[in-house]
Amino acid sequence: MFSSVLDRPTLILNRSWQAVAVSTAARSLVKVYRGAAHVVDPNDYQLYDWNDWAALPAAAEEVMITTPYFQLRAPEVVVLSHYDCAPDATVSFSRRNLFRRDQFTCQYCGKRPGSDDLTVDHVVPRSRGGASCWENCVLACVKCNRRKADKSPAQARMPLLRQPKKPRWKPIYAAHGVRLGSWAKFVSDVYWNIELES
Ligand SMILES: [Zn+2]
Repeated sequence: MFSSVLDRPTLILNRSWQAVAVSTAARSLVKVYRGAAHVVDPNDYQLYDWNDWAALPAAAEEVMITTPYFQLRAPEVVVLSHYDCAPDATVSFSRRNLFRRDQFTCQYCGKRPGSDDLTVDHVVPRSRGGASCWENCVLACVKCNRRKADKSPAQARMPLLRQPKKPRWKPIYAAHGVRLGSWAKFVSDVYWNIELES
């Protein structure tokens, strides 16, 4: 699933134990090494600094980071020592995020032709003042986009499958298609929904 153990995802918590980002095992371990973070054991919430973590023996079935000198466990969760920002609760409006929200599905005919045959359609056309925003943009297949052309859904008689809205998921999960089971203890379920669907 990951090209190396070092690329395995790690959940980053702030000092209040709120999830603020997803990083890689490699970058998280650098933070721990510098004293900027501690590894959290998701089973018992015990904290480990670099020396404690490096001294842990390999657990059964656990993936280890192997160096010429020692072996390290790949952390699944780390908590930052000096970062108190709240997580960014907004999802940026972007082509990539729009594809995720609409799950690569044409919002008019419901087909999933592949990303090359999907376009971003302005529900109210730009020529009529339609804005580029979550509420006015949907994915449309090339065929539906041509058919709808410069008309509103009502004029084109092409109802939307669902009303476009700003997604409720957080950017930290939108940016990564992966999550680990142990993270569920630190992140409210509501934010996983979109990940589970895709
Ligand atoms: Zn279509």
